[in-house]
Amino acid sequence: MKRHLVCLTFDFDAMSGFIARGMTSATPVSRGEFGADVGTPRILKLLKKHRILSSWYIPGHTLETYPDRCKQVYDAGHEIAHHGWTHVPPALLSRQEEEDGLVRANEQIKKLTGRYARGYRSPSWDLSPHSVELLLKHGFIYDSSMMGNDFSPYRVRQGDLITLDKPALFGKTTPLIEMPVSWTLDDHPHFEFIRTKDWILPGLMNTKLVFEDWINDFNYMKKTMEWGVIIYTFHPYVIGRGGRMATLEKLIRKLKDSGAVFVTVEAAAAEYEKKQPFKG
Ligand SMILES: [Zn+2]
Repeated sequence: MKRHLVCLTFDFDAMSGFIARGMTSATPVSRGEFGADVGTPRILKLLKKHRILSSWYIPGHTLETYPDRCKQVYDAGHEIAHHGWTHVPPALLSRQEEEDGLVRANEQIKKLTGRYARGYRSPSWDLSPHSVELLLKHGFIYDSSMMGNDFSPYRVRQGDLITLDKPALFGKTTPLIEMPVSWTLDDHPHFEFIRTKDWILPGLMNTKLVFEDWINDFNYMKKTMEWGVIIYTFHPYVIGRGGRMATLEKLIRKLKDSGAVFVTVEAAAAEYEKKQPFKG
């Protein structure tokens, strides 16, 4: 039987992404605050209206800064998953710093939900050479940071040797399930304008065009796959703004009309595990 899963995922960064880049002045902080104070309540209301359960990747910084808002997310039935302690990508951390952050945020998640996170998404989608080992050590079932497929989960490798002068040497396959993502299905690069002294993210795309791209990907999955998962990534301070919320609702309606089944990423990973058990 055909089954096309849609995961709506929300990276609840609040101001953590800005402060990880050294942007600690009032305006970037307020930009993050918008996500907590305005964006998240709007999103929760919309998801409730459409009876959709989603997955929230929350940095420890947000969990400790906005415990009540995070509790609202959890109380509404959404999956609470791991998004690092600060928003510094693991690729820029030492092994010790990465593990310390992993443990610290995981304790907050346990405090909120009663259990450690099953899912992990690296800040800014950049894993370190230690991430897979640490995720397995700390009992994670899945990662959602890589881009090796668009509509099918797969198993994460460990110990690849990638150098410029030799062909890639691939490591061993692990039980960790990858729930793949893509910048094309992420609201942030399309919509957010960010200017630092070193670079500019132009963003500010027209919502109609982005909506069209997002639907086209689902339609392609529907046409070509018996069973597949598409993972959309949103940020409360990005998608939570005015007209973009209308686009999110339009997307939900269109996907519903097209037969999408909305599930959390954890549930989609469990379906994949059942379909293709790990053989080692
Ligand atoms: Zn993030």
